Amino acid sequence: MIAFDLTDEQRELRDLARRFARETIRPAAAEADEQEEVPWEILQQAHQMGLLTYHIPEAYGGGGVESRLTRALIDEELFWGCAGIATIIGGVGLSSTPILLAGSEAQKEKYLTRLCDPAKVTLGAFALTEPSAGSDAAGIITQAHRQGSKYILNGYKTFITNAGIADIYVVFATVDIARGAEGITAFIVEKDWPGVQAGKKEKKLGIRASHTASLMLQDVEVPAENRLGEEGEGFSIAMRTFDITRTHIAAGAVGIARAAYEYALSYAHERIQFGKPIARFQAIAFMLAEMATQIDAARLLTWRAAWLSDQELPCSKEASMAKAYAADVAMQVTTDAVQILGGYGYMREYPVEKWMRDAKIMQIYEGTAQIQRLIISRQLKPGEAS
Ligand SMILES: Cc1cc2nc3c(=O)[nH]c(=O)nc-3n(C[C@H](O)[C@H](O)[C@H](O)COP(=O)(O)OP(=O)(O)OC[C@H]3O[C@@H](n4cnc5c(N)ncnc54)[C@H](O)[C@@H]3O)c2cc1C
Repeated sequence: MIAFDLTDEQRELRDLARRFARETIRPAAAEADEQEEVPWEILQQAHQMGLLTYHIPEAYGGGGVESRLTRALIDEELFWGCAGIATIIGGVGLSSTPILLAGSEAQKEKYLTRLCDPAKVTLGAFALTEPSAGSDAAGIITQAHRQGSKYILNGYKTFITNAGIADIYVVFATVDIARGAEGITAFIVEKDWPGVQAGKKEKKLGIRASHTASLMLQDVEVPAENRLGEEGEGFSIAMRTFDITRTHIAAGAVGIARAAYEYALSYAHERIQFGKPIARFQAIAFMLAEMATQIDAARLLTWRAAWLSDQELPCSKEASMAKAYAADVAMQVTTDAVQILGGYGYMREYPVEKWMRDAKIMQIYEGTAQIQRLIISRQLKPGEAS
C-alpha cells in the first residue's frame, strides 16, 4: 500500500516544529549568520519545546519520536528556519544515534539522560573525520591502545560539528591500523577529560551559526566501559548511523530549498518589470515550476528512505539517493532563487544568498555528493529491477 497522508501525531509535531521555525528560529537566523555565533537562547527554547532531543526515547528523558519519517518532517522545518541552527541540533542527533544503535543500557542511561538534562542545553558531537581521512573514513589514524581497563586515545579530528561546545563526543579510533576498517572502534569521550581539547572555530561559507572545530586527543584515558560495541565494530556503527542520519540531511536540504522557493515565488509575483510581474515571464515561471517539482521529488525520495528505515528494511541505497538528490536540489533551487531576485538576491539584506551559501554543505557533510553516488552505484545489480 502506498499512502502519503500523515497521522495526527505527525501533523502535530510538524506544525510544532514549523511554528518554532517561523516564530523563533527564522527571526534570529540572519544575525546568527552575520555574527557567526551559536544562538544559545534559541537552543534553550528549542530544548524547552522538546526539539533538541525529540528522537531520544522517553525512558532517557527525550521526546520518544522513534519514527524516522516523523523526524524527517521535523528536520525539514528546522532547516527551513536556519540550516546553521538546525545543524547544531543535528549534531545531537548524529552523536546520540551511535549510542542508541550500539550503546549498552548503562551507556544509554548515563549519556542519553545527560543529553536530555532539562536544566540545560547539553550538546553532543560525532568525531570521525581527520585531515587525511575524509571521504575515506576507513583510513583514520587516531589510535586507541588498550591498557588494562582503559584505552589511551591519541589523534586529531577535523571539521567536527559542535567540537568545543559539546559535552559528549563519540570518537572513532583504530585499535590496529593494519586492520583497516576492521580495526575502527567507537568510544564515548567526555569534554572535561584530560587531553581532550577543541581547536579554534572554523570560518565557513555557510551554516555560520553552527560551530565547527577540530578536536585534539592527547593521551586521553577512556575507561573500557565507554567503548561502544566491540573492538572493530566502529566503522559499521558509523555507517549504520549515516544510513539513518543521511535521510535527515536530505529532509534538511528540502527545508532549505523550500525556504528559497517560497521567497522567490512571492517575490516573482510582486516584482514588476516591463509592466508586469516577472512571474508572468515564461523564463521565470518555468524556473519556479522546476523548483517546485524538484522539491517535491526530493521530499518523496526522503520520505521513502525514512519509511523503509521505519519498517526496518534495508535503506542504505535509498538514503544515499535521497541525500544526493535533495542536496543537489537545494543547491540548484537556492541558486535559481538568487537569480529570480536579480541584484537584490545578491545582497545580504535579502535572505536568499544565505540559503545559497547554506545549501552547499548539504553536498559535502555526512558523505559528499560523489560518495553518495559511489554508495548507490555499488548497490546497482544488472538484471535487477530498479
Ligand atoms: C561544516 C562541516 C561540518 C562537518 N561536520 C562533521 C562532523 O560533525 N563529524 C565528522 O566526522 N565530520 C564532519 N565534517 C567532515 C565531512 O564529513 C567531510 O568534509 C566530508 O566527508 C569530505 O571529506 P574531505 O573534506 O576530507 O574531502 P575529501 O574526501 O578529500 O574529498 C575531496 C573531493 O574528492 C571527492 N572524492 C573523494 N573520494 C572520492 C571517490 N572515491 N570517488 C569520487 N570522488 C571522491 C569528494 O567527493 C570531494 O569532492 C564536516 C565538514 C564540514 C565542512
